[in-house]
Amino acid sequence: MDTLEYRSVIFNKREKSGPNRQPIASQLADLESCLWDVVILGAGVAGTAAAILAAKRGLKTLLVEAKPFPREKVCGGCLNRRAQGSLERLGVLNQIQFAGSIRIDSMHLQILATSVIWPVPAMISVRRSTLDTLLVDEAVTQGCNFIDSAHGSLVASESKTRLVRIQKQDQSVVVEAKCVLIASGLTRSPLKNPTNWPAVVHDDSRIGVQCMLAEKHAAAYVGNQLHMLVGKNGYAGICSTDGNCVDIAAAIDPASIQTLGGIEHVIRGILEECNAPSILWPDVSPWMATPALTRNSSRVVDRCVFLIGDAIGYVEPFTGEGMSWALASAEAVMPHVIEIAHKEWNDRMADQWSDWAVRQRIQKQKTCRWIANRIRRPRGAAWVLRACNWFPPLRSTIIRKTTQ
Ligand SMILES: Cc1cc2nc3c(=O)[nH]c(=O)nc-3n(C[C@H](O)[C@H](O)[C@H](O)COP(=O)(O)OP(=O)(O)OC[C@H]3O[C@@H](n4cnc5c(N)ncnc54)[C@H](O)[C@@H]3O)c2cc1C
Repeated sequence: MDTLEYRSVIFNKREKSGPNRQPIASQLADLESCLWDVVILGAGVAGTAAAILAAKRGLKTLLVEAKPFPREKVCGGCLNRRAQGSLERLGVLNQIQFAGSIRIDSMHLQILATSVIWPVPAMISVRRSTLDTLLVDEAVTQGCNFIDSAHGSLVASESKTRLVRIQKQDQSVVVEAKCVLIASGLTRSPLKNPTNWPAVVHDDSRIGVQCMLAEKHAAAYVGNQLHMLVGKNGYAGICSTDGNCVDIAAAIDPASIQTLGGIEHVIRGILEECNAPSILWPDVSPWMATPALTRNSSRVVDRCVFLIGDAIGYVEPFTGEGMSWALASAEAVMPHVIEIAHKEWNDRMADQWSDWAVRQRIQKQKTCRWIANRIRRPRGAAWVLRACNWFPPLRSTIIRKTTQ
């Protein structure tokens, strides 16, 4: 039988830790012998944050991740002030700062030929492989069981508890949980029955793409500045990150990839439209891509099952709204998880979680949506940028709304 594969750093921490931090399971089949208080599917920021909080409260917590860890993912990696606040409450902000993350103190915003440099409240740029691994590490230290390279999916069940199938290579087990959190990001792949979990994907949605380059390939973008470049086929955020790398993350028109002959050509086009310094593209640039970005789940909760983070819904990103929202959702769902673990599911939780999700979508993501819509018409957006120079309160509002 296959042993669970923890990264060695996580395993060592576990060996050093106290009695309530013993792993419940050491083999895949052992997972079945336990009634889990909470099983969390997806070890992005939402899932790992929820795992830390649940394990801290002494809940029997299992975190399942489809990809082998550590893994990179499509993201600009910029943490705004709200995200930093959540990470501080989770006890990992210091470690992120010591892990070589970069402090971002200004934004160079270029919309076609119009360009401004604005100071921004301190943001942090960190690779997702670094951030998510530190979060998993903390969850495991707090007593959470973690399994990577394993695909989790919700199994239909009529009983009071919920069932989750975990597939790792050619082995599969079904575990029982009092509560399940779906934190799988945009894909929502754990939800096998899409008719029970309808989602709306916007027809004109852009897709996310990302590429991590060594600094020597993008020397002009190294430093403490976030470069935001807006062209007609999309927009790109470029900034230094840990490991002497430059992160290039963009939301682009999927049709333009075919028309222009590849993701790299779309990004080249955006740089040229903005008269921005070029990049020395390596022979093989390892681009990663997401499905359509703008989507909403019509249903975000079912008996003992909650969607959190991007699984709830998403709009095109700008600077830091995504991760702060994912972290906030993990904090907000925790009272329900604890109540189910200690008492039981109550139907009022469904209304409360749906209300929370709708309120967040409307209030918190309104700015993102507004900006995403404006920059689809770059010429008009360039005028807004010029207006910011004439009217500083407009500039302050945009900076505050996008970076705090
Ligand atoms: C181009 C781009 C740039 C961005 N830049 C920023 C930025 O600078 N700052 C910011 O705050 N936000 C940014 N975002 C948004 C941010 O990346 C997301 O909002 C955030 O990652 C959402 O976190 P999550 O935990 O909900 O999902 P994710 O981080 O997507 O994590 C989901 C995890 O679930 C795993 N998974 C999927 N299916 C399964 C399954 N069946 N079983 C087990 N595991 C599964 C996946 O492998 C993944 O690890 C950006 C997004 C894009 C597309």
